[in-house]
Amino acid sequence: MPDKFDVIVVGAGPAGISCAYHLAKSGVNVILIERGEYPGSKNVMGGVLYRKMMDDIIPGFYKEAPLERPIVEQRFMMLDKESALTFGYKGLEWAEEPYNNFTVLRAKFDQWFASKAEAEGALLINETVVLECIVEDGRVIGVRTDRPDGEIYADVVVLADGVNSLLAKQLGFHKEFKPNEVALATMEILKLDKAIIEDRFNLEPNQGCTIEIFGDATKGILGTGFLYTNKDTLSIGVGTLLSGLIKHKIKPYELLEYVKNHPMIKPYIKGSEPQEYLAHLIPEGGYHSMPKIVGNGVIVVGDAAQLVNAIHREGSNMAMTSGILAAETILLAKMTGDYSENMLDHYRMKLMDSFVGKDLKKYKDATHHFDKFPQYFEKYIPLMNQAASQMFTVDGSSKKEKQNKIWKDIGSAGEKMKIARDLVRAWRVMK
Ligand code: FAD
Repeated sequence: MPDKFDVIVVGAGPAGISCAYHLAKSGVNVILIERGEYPGSKNVMGGVLYRKMMDDIIPGFYKEAPLERPIVEQRFMMLDKESALTFGYKGLEWAEEPYNNFTVLRAKFDQWFASKAEAEGALLINETVVLECIVEDGRVIGVRTDRPDGEIYADVVVLADGVNSLLAKQLGFHKEFKPNEVALATMEILKLDKAIIEDRFNLEPNQGCTIEIFGDATKGILGTGFLYTNKDTLSIGVGTLLSGLIKHKIKPYELLEYVKNHPMIKPYIKGSEPQEYLAHLIPEGGYHSMPKIVGNGVIVVGDAAQLVNAIHREGSNMAMTSGILAAETILLAKMTGDYSENMLDHYRMKLMDSFVGKDLKKYKDATHHFDKFPQYFEKYIPLMNQAASQMFTVDGSSKKEKQNKIWKDIGSAGEKMKIARDLVRAWRVMK
């Protein structure tokens, strides 16, 4: 193994693999270093894989990739203790090629994706931890790994080492993230017969469904639960900001058990067997929490750059796009032989000009707003459910009487003003 490469990519998740794939395909000598036994072995996702970004990298990938089910229905549940207000969209256009999105299990998918990068010429090294970047005269020139012959050099190092990147932190690109910038998600993969899944979720074979669950799924803490259909398993999980867990003194696994035993959720998973238990952090600080993402000889991509849109549960797609934009910038830098921060800053500009930067900017205050004002999840979801219950219960009172009762139950004039103000505020941070 030569100890000098054109590019070192640290971390074989969607961001790192996309970057290594694109570089290798363009003839660049690239090494992809992964600490896990194989790519995906350490990675966790609900998970929905967005077709568009992956298709841009490997057109028609869905014909051969290990995917679970094409998603034809997305449901949303507003939970109270013993009720659920449900809505969603099912479209059979999503059941046809090229499909829309897919459920995936990362342990399988990442492995397959990394093998495609290898086939293009990238050198993948597993079970190797990058301990630090080697810096000389203010420029990153390589990495030090935990291997005996541990130093590897390159013109550029791409940090794709995921949420809470220790390597970016060592370079001074970010400080320790605060508990309100990071969510902790726990999930289980539950084995369930394929035919039961299709029957229970009203699906044809090779069709999938996702359910996002709000409100009581997190006991009113800012966050979401999710229930996704795979081929012959279900993925169920719940994620909340660390600050919420600390404030409410709840342990993440207690929350997962609570969701699994919720009367609105339990029937979906009845008869299933736990197959795997997973937990992982998600960077949810958004735009305001983005660290410095370029330096001399170094670029930060994916979760390591805090590129997650928590409102739309998008992360893997942003990771892929950032990986590709980093690769394109490196190709440009290679032509000029200039790997300075100034040159590599093209990556930051392209990223901020793409849907990634635009979406992060659009929702820049959303997470912080809903964290600061817990009434949206704690109070307003139960109120909506009570109103639905009132309206849909036929008990001989007129609809006008029902409306009046709902209006009265909301509370005093002051309460109503407060809700109106909160709705305007919510619209402002989401618009
Ligand atoms: P990662 O996938 O975290 O990959 C980082 C890699 O770097 C890992 O393989 C790790 O082992 C390796 N690594 C770390 N440090 C080192 C080191 N020092 N040396 C060597 N290797 C190292 N996104 C979606 O798009 N859709 C979803 O439905 C969705 N659901 C989610 C559900 C959960 C429970 C969680 C936790 C996340 C979810 N996400 C979802 C977010 C998504 O998983 C991430 O945004 C995405 O994985 C980021 O990709 P990445 O390549 O940047 O980081």
